Amino acid sequence: MTFNLHILPGDGIGPEVMAEVEKLVKWLNAKTDIKIKTVQGLVGGASIDAYGKPLTAETLDACKKSDAVLLGAVGGPKWDKVDYAIRPEAGLLGLRKELDLFANLRPALVFDALIDASTLKPEIVRGLDILIVRELTGGVYFGEPRGIEDLGNGKRRGVNTQVYTTDEILRVGRVAFELARKRRNKVTSCEKANVMESGKLWREEITKLHAAEYADVELEHMYADNCAMQLLRRPSQFDVIVTDNLFGDILSDEAAMLTGSLGMLPSASLGVKGSTALYEPVHGSAPDIAGQGKANPLATILSFAMCLRYSFDRGDLAGMIESAVQKILDGGTRTPDIMAPGCKETSTAGMGDALISELDKSVALKGVA
Ligand code: NAD
Repeated sequence: MTFNLHILPGDGIGPEVMAEVEKLVKWLNAKTDIKIKTVQGLVGGASIDAYGKPLTAETLDACKKSDAVLLGAVGGPKWDKVDYAIRPEAGLLGLRKELDLFANLRPALVFDALIDASTLKPEIVRGLDILIVRELTGGVYFGEPRGIEDLGNGKRRGVNTQVYTTDEILRVGRVAFELARKRRNKVTSCEKANVMESGKLWREEITKLHAAEYADVELEHMYADNCAMQLLRRPSQFDVIVTDNLFGDILSDEAAMLTGSLGMLPSASLGVKGSTALYEPVHGSAPDIAGQGKANPLATILSFAMCLRYSFDRGDLAGMIESAVQKILDGGTRTPDIMAPGCKETSTAGMGDALISELDKSVALKGVA
């Protein structure tokens, strides 16, 4: 089966890390039974430079027609002064909105070899493997009314509205329960049902959904503030955490930092089953290191592995890439951001090459077996 992958490298280190994914795609096409056709497009600052806007209708259309989109990063000081409406980030937000990507998946996984990169004690984070599912298109970031009004006398009032409907809660809830079934079968649902009506509704709808369709999955409810504490106290208690847009924004950053390194963190944003999904590293365009071969490409490579698993239904190939990454880290090959005493420093391209040679080894081993 052939899959169409639309690649949007974006700005800063985006094109550098994406070049390593291109190497990997070439390897997969040559050495495995999957066929992936890639097309490259422009987004963010690169698109502003070429077309005067961060996302063109043509690029959006091409993304919609593809099976999945892989994005590098957008933004940088070059575009700091462009009009707010056409800033680089607007391209990314437009893409998420137009593809109706309502579920954002952020794994927080601690590789044993990088355990010292965490600010938490090794015994707390060892073996950590959490998946945060954040609702991405509703809640207080989009609710109406919103705005800043003038109250007179130089005083003002800022308003945002937290709002969720049954359908919005159920569709993200289903994503979380389905994913939990493929992992350790536990969902922790987070809100503030004690002080917010939208949280009370969230808890009631998730409870009903669980009873009706997912009684085989363990469900626990937790207030979001308690979840923030528990993530630091005993993160290993969590498997899948499902939560709204605002709490998800904060909790996913907190969980990500348990792992200690921005260059290692992938993400996926999914819409309804079978629609085009978006995969991207959590980090930004890192202008401070762009063009120097210092960027860690593993967050983007692991985002592509998520694409193989969730959009192309090739968990086998995703697993193969993830264990090759594990072996490289165990072997002490490191980009500067995750460098440690006694390890061997390599460049962005060096890390991509190390992955290919590790994959070559695993194929050769299978051949012998
Ligand atoms: P950043 O994530 O780009 O960088 C933060 C720090 O982490 C920097 O020191 C950087 O060198 C380092 N870093 C990030 N990714 C790395 C990698 N793969 N390998 C090694 N080191 C890495 O965040 P920032 O500095 O706040 O933002 C820079 C630009 O990126 C801004 O224009 C911002 O708006 C944009 N941004 C884009 C996205 C996105 O495209 N999704 C996300 C965040 C920030």
